[in-house]
Amino acid sequence: MLDELYQEIILDHYRHPRGRGELEPPKITQEGFNPSCGDEVIIDLRVEDGRISDIRFHGRGCSISQASASMLVEAVKGKTLEEAHQLIEQTLALVKGEVEADYAVHGDLVALAGVRNFPVRVKCATLAWHTLEEALKQASAEAVQET
Ligand code: ZN
Repeated sequence: MLDELYQEIILDHYRHPRGRGELEPPKITQEGFNPSCGDEVIIDLRVEDGRISDIRFHGRGCSISQASASMLVEAVKGKTLEEAHQLIEQTLALVKGEVEADYAVHGDLVALAGVRNFPVRVKCATLAWHTLEEALKQASAEAVQET
């Protein structure tokens, strides 16, 4: 179904997930669920000085949903909230086929482009990213309260 290279990257992240686990409080937690496949992704993150200082994920589901969460954690750690927003948009565009897939530009995330012709799989690949988007909304709301 997926291009061989893409499949290799997905399986590598699925078998050896980066940043799998939970954070100790204080943290922001956001749960995401994809009913069409039964995938669950929970993202824990901490924001310090406007940056995602730490981020972990846990949950269960198909290899694409969990590999995508692993890639996300690796890609957004240390990023500012604005950079994380941009990365979400970029990745959603990549998965939907709105931008060209290029390993030099996207790194491992390029593998998510392999699902673009499979609408059901698109939901698996984008679950973690939509979940992060919700988590960032929480982070922004908390930042407003503190000032
Ligand atoms: Zn799935």
